[in-house]
Amino acid sequence: MNAVKKVLGLLGSDISYTLSPLMHNTAAEALGLNYSYNVFDIRAKDLPAALEGLRALGIVGVNVTIPYKERVVKYLDALSAEASEVQAVNTVLNQNGTLIGYNTDIYGFAEPLKVFKSELEKEQVAIFGCGGAARAAIQALRNEFKPATVFILARNEAKSNALKEDFERRNRSLELKTLNMADPKTLEILRDCKLIINATPVGSAQPSASKDPLVPAEKIWTKEQIAYELVYNPLQTPFLQGAQEAGAETISGLEMLIHQGAKAFEIWTGNTMPIELVRHVLLKALETN
Ligand code: NAP
Repeated sequence: MNAVKKVLGLLGSDISYTLSPLMHNTAAEALGLNYSYNVFDIRAKDLPAALEGLRALGIVGVNVTIPYKERVVKYLDALSAEASEVQAVNTVLNQNGTLIGYNTDIYGFAEPLKVFKSELEKEQVAIFGCGGAARAAIQALRNEFKPATVFILARNEAKSNALKEDFERRNRSLELKTLNMADPKTLEILRDCKLIINATPVGSAQPSASKDPLVPAEKIWTKEQIAYELVYNPLQTPFLQGAQEAGAETISGLEMLIHQGAKAFEIWTGNTMPIELVRHVLLKALETN
């Protein structure tokens, strides 16, 4: 008889597109570990009950995704130093009934960017979006890449200003500037940025996400720039395509997905994820989508 599997999962809303179950179940099976990773698509009002449910059911841990990464914080018992600093959590470990929040998005964002580290110092960076993923990206940029300025391009100025002020309250070592995406200065600023990041769901397979491009590609991209897409499903997005056509360097959201997942897997199971195998399986799944 098979042993009862230890349960892992993903808490989010509107997340049918996720590849996390395939990633974690592939890794657990390859290592002969007895875990099963499931999707819990929950309504906002059920978030506190879902977290109580982790304790009651002895669920080992969960990832937390859109739109709960920030609001989950107040229901947890403890936070890692990084999660506490950004006040956003994407990984929860249930340690004998104590729920500990981590943020592995910061690590996951930084890993694929490290090959460009020397090119980013003292340069300008722009990031679309001001949600949980943008928070993790800005934290990683501040900790590891030392750009001169990060422009936060968003459609909701109150929200982007709140994010900027939150970072500045904690640490002023990185210059942050906010700009409404619709501002005519946006295109000019983007042309001067070494790295441009899409931290919005625009272009993703998420049913509610906009499919209209964030920027008119022909007006900004040059081959000197780096495009970092955080959307991973589909693999190819208008943001990446525009950059590729201009000869810019590109990083797919799949890389961040794998690295944030590998760190979470290690927190829950104590094991190293077989990254090459996981990348191969995920690429195949995305290509046959
Ligand atoms: P979030 O907290 O909900 O934030 C989303 C941000 O995108 C908000 O600033 C939102 O603006 C903005 N936005 C949404 N639709 C937009 C549109 N049509 N035009 C302009 N801005 C728009 O979500 P998140 O957790 O930051 O995730 C953002 C994206 O990154 C998602 O697609 C997610 O799947 C992806 N992600 C990928 C990874 C990975 O491992 N590859 C990790 C984390 C996140 P408003 O506040 O005005 O709505």
